[in-house]
Amino acid sequence: MAVDPLIELRDVNKHFGQLHVLQHIDLTVDRGEVVVVIGPSGSGKSTLCRAINRLETIESGTIIIDGQALPEEGKALARLRADVGMVFQSFNLFAHKTVLDNVSLGQIKVRGRKKDEAEKRSHRLLERVGLADQAAKYPAQLSGGQQQRVAIARALAMDPKVMLFDEPTSALDPEMINEVLEVMQQLAREGMTMVVVTHEMGFARSAANRVVFMSDGRIIEDRAPDDFFTNPETDRAKDFLSKIL
Ligand code: ADP
Ligand code: MG
Repeated sequence: MAVDPLIELRDVNKHFGQLHVLQHIDLTVDRGEVVVVIGPSGSGKSTLCRAINRLETIESGTIIIDGQALPEEGKALARLRADVGMVFQSFNLFAHKTVLDNVSLGQIKVRGRKKDEAEKRSHRLLERVGLADQAAKYPAQLSGGQQQRVAIARALAMDPKVMLFDEPTSALDPEMINEVLEVMQQLAREGMTMVVVTHEMGFARSAANRVVFMSDGRIIEDRAPDDFFTNPETDRAKDFLSKIL
């Protein structure tokens, strides 16, 4: 039973042409909860994340964020997107803006902060992700792990109610994965509500309150990590785990 739901999806459906990519998705994420979403490539994990902040439309069902149904468009949608921070596999930073500007611009445009107030906050966040000394650089001057930490700082700068991470470490060289996971672990400890698509099972075991397993557009398991990893119920989950562990 949900205690204090921040995200509620009820019977959400979406097709891409003939492909029923999200099939009757029911998912509740409570405030402060960390939910890790795993499953084979093509099972709908990214589409689910994108639907949660309306980067994808849905055909039926409801998505409620902090008690509010998703608006279709306009300013209300921009504000809602700002409430849902998103970090992608590809860092999606503005290449021609400095690190400081990357973290500050959304605060000024969407949250309406003054430039100096936004920049002060950006500096604090860059410090928090271990990049205090990189503010004046451009994304291309940073490593992949550093760029991803900038992307996390940029999302946090909007004061999101929830953070969605879609395979945030999949594009990184192995030696950079931990520096990003550590920032995410820290966020989880601080009580941030998080939905994390990842194949990093160490992170799932240590940070997740629940693991959601998707297969062919459905959620087929939704359990505590220890239960899931030691005793997966479905053959599909068993098969998936046997391939990645
Ligand atoms: P995952 O993130 O689990 O790998 P995705 O949500 O990216 O899965 O994709 C689920 C399925 O939907 C895949 O078969 C993919 O090819 C398809 N798909 C994703 N985006 C689109 C799109 N914009 N148009 C058509 N098919 C898509
Ligand atoms: Mg994906």
